[in-house]
Amino acid sequence: MPSSPPSSPPVAKRPKLDSQASTSVPNNIVPLSPSASPHRTNGHSNGSAALSADTVPAATSAPSLPTARAAAPTTHTPADSDDEETEPVMRLAEEEDLSRRDMYLDTVARQNLDFDFERLCSKSLSNINVYACLVCGKYFQGRGRGSWAYRHSVGENHRVWLNLQTEKFYVLPEGYIVSDPSLNDILRVLNPRYKSSSLPALSDLPAPSHTLAGTSYIPGYIGLNNIKKNDYLNVILQLILHVPPVRNFFLDPASPQLQESARPSELVNRLATLARRLWNPHLFKSQISPHEFLQEVAKRSGGKFKMTEQGDPVEFLGWLVNTLHRDLGGTKKRNSSVIYSSLQGKVQIETQQIIIHKEYARPIFDIARDIQTNQSPFLFLALDLPATPLFQDANEKKIIPQVSLASILAKFDGKTTQEFGPTLKRHHLMALPPYLILHIKRFTKNNFVEERNPTIVNFPLRGVELSDYVDPKPSDPMHTQYDLLANVSLDTTGASTSSAGTGPGVSKAKRDPNDEPQMTWKIHVRAGRGGGDSEKWFELQDLRVEEVRKEMVFLGETVVQVWQRRDLSTPKV
Ligand SMILES: [Zn+2]
Repeated sequence: MPSSPPSSPPVAKRPKLDSQASTSVPNNIVPLSPSASPHRTNGHSNGSAALSADTVPAATSAPSLPTARAAAPTTHTPADSDDEETEPVMRLAEEEDLSRRDMYLDTVARQNLDFDFERLCSKSLSNINVYACLVCGKYFQGRGRGSWAYRHSVGENHRVWLNLQTEKFYVLPEGYIVSDPSLNDILRVLNPRYKSSSLPALSDLPAPSHTLAGTSYIPGYIGLNNIKKNDYLNVILQLILHVPPVRNFFLDPASPQLQESARPSELVNRLATLARRLWNPHLFKSQISPHEFLQEVAKRSGGKFKMTEQGDPVEFLGWLVNTLHRDLGGTKKRNSSVIYSSLQGKVQIETQQIIIHKEYARPIFDIARDIQTNQSPFLFLALDLPATPLFQDANEKKIIPQVSLASILAKFDGKTTQEFGPTLKRHHLMALPPYLILHIKRFTKNNFVEERNPTIVNFPLRGVELSDYVDPKPSDPMHTQYDLLANVSLDTTGASTSSAGTGPGVSKAKRDPNDEPQMTWKIHVRAGRGGGDSEKWFELQDLRVEEVRKEMVFLGETVVQVWQRRDLSTPKV
């Protein structure tokens, strides 16, 4: 254990200082870029460094409160038990107290407040009894005399505090509670709450909200911080939190698996927190950080999905939906979690050993021989792109091939065959999910090199008909029609194109073709539904949010799409 720092308060019973040196940062604390860190500003140590035995009890910066000091606890306040009961609580009923309240509440600086980060004391790194300084936004432990929060309040004269757990406001160092309706907006940022009945309306075009600075934003269509290289994770968070039943499940205060008594996993809890922030109509800034959730992802996935290394969004999506399903108590049954009930479909796979007939150029299914039939549930469907032709145009630029979505969906028509080693397979859908996720396979690994297929897939935004691929067919014709909800694509603007392809990289002669491609990920998501003016499209790439024309959606190298069944994408009248 590290020794206490020279600035330790000489108070006999001071807060636990067990892990404050940087050498003892817990494993789950990932170094942050300065702008993303909750301990971001300099000079935290000023307040405490200046303290000595003489200055601690002096509360020198509070001349207007000569009696408050006497009321402050002087005996015991270990920061981790900081009991409310023994603290003096000064309700602001009297007139003189009201004038005092006004004075301090004016020092609250909302632009410095940001509750996206793990609730850890910036000094002790403890998560117990953490207070946010509402003047500078930093987190400190305890409020008793000698605690980190107490010392900060004295040293910096930052007086208004919020206990992040109890959601009570305090004035320190005096230690009295303030309760004032003007502070409720802060609680709405700390912990946004929703009404079950208001959730379905989020599927229609939400009304714009305004930030502290007066900028308008659409709740749910805001940027996510990129801590280092987590754009591949951000697009999947945006994707999953825009699937309406999943969104509603995590926002709904009545969801049974989210109740404290149901002991939800940390992953579930943190995703629920992120969902509530993403859809919050009362944000101070129109951006949030997924940092806390992604820390838990890194932990739960054993380091497979990190914020610091580019990764595969499709692998992350697969991991996330399966892990959430299990964490929410899901079983093999179809409707056993919101994940399965929203995303699960069923496919039939027929397999036959290949025997080459000389009269056929390609192997075919032989109905006279054994066909093995399997039925398999799926959460998303993988679609293959045709191999990239090596044509070049007159200017010796590579031509980017294009295919239609229908042509790659033909894999599921029950007739098209594919060879897998010594076997031949054909696929047919048996049940379509309310939300169909398609994965367009763009990357192949050959001899340790990952190659990217730049083929552009053409698709309509509305009305993709899937009746040719499903058997038995649903009786309601709306149940085979799908409208696009979200589209994740590769942004290759910064990429070199070692395999083939497009983008500015091609024309830059000096670029080393062996350079690691600088690929980033972006997502298009629909706001509202029903087509025409009742919907809008947004392009989200980390913190960047832009409303885009519909035609822009299909220009990129699509990798994952979410399609919404027509009856669900039609506004209820
Ligand atoms: Zn402060």
